[in-house]
Amino acid sequence: MAQYSKILIAVDLSEDSAEVATKARAIAGDDSSGLHLIHVIEPLSFAYGGDIPMDFSGIQDEIHQQATQQLATFGTAHGIPAERQHIVLGRPEVEIHSAAQEINADLIVVGSHGRYGLALLMGSTANGVLHGATCDVLAVRVGDTD
Ligand code: AMP
Repeated sequence: MAQYSKILIAVDLSEDSAEVATKARAIAGDDSSGLHLIHVIEPLSFAYGGDIPMDFSGIQDEIHQQATQQLATFGTAHGIPAERQHIVLGRPEVEIHSAAQEINADLIVVGSHGRYGLALLMGSTANGVLHGATCDVLAVRVGDTD
């Protein structure tokens, strides 16, 4: 791998994710052994917990299982094996930062929707990842149909 030895690719598992992974793979070059994937699941309780008195654990487990399967399929398609696929619960920015530190990443790659003009050049997650990151961050422009 040319400049970076550990690259953490953050994917929301939307159709944009392939563009993000493809860019990271291009940076890695011939040696893809330092590529890691992360997908963060936001707990339903963050959105509804205070307002709806209900047990979300069954639905949360289902979401976790489906995301794990989708990440596995995605990882296989991009040559990143299970031991380098990370699924965690929490806030994306926070968990991406802590996974980056855990694996000692020297680059985090995220997608960014650039179609809302300069002020909103980076989507909220990309912006959050950039602020507070202790390594380089690459924001790959995605979903650009203009
Ligand atoms: P957004 O700001 O939500 O449009 O997301 C922009 C980028 O942030 C995505 O392309 C991913 O790289 C990353 N991202 C967003 N949500 C997640 C998530 N739940 N897990 C991992 N990465 C995410």
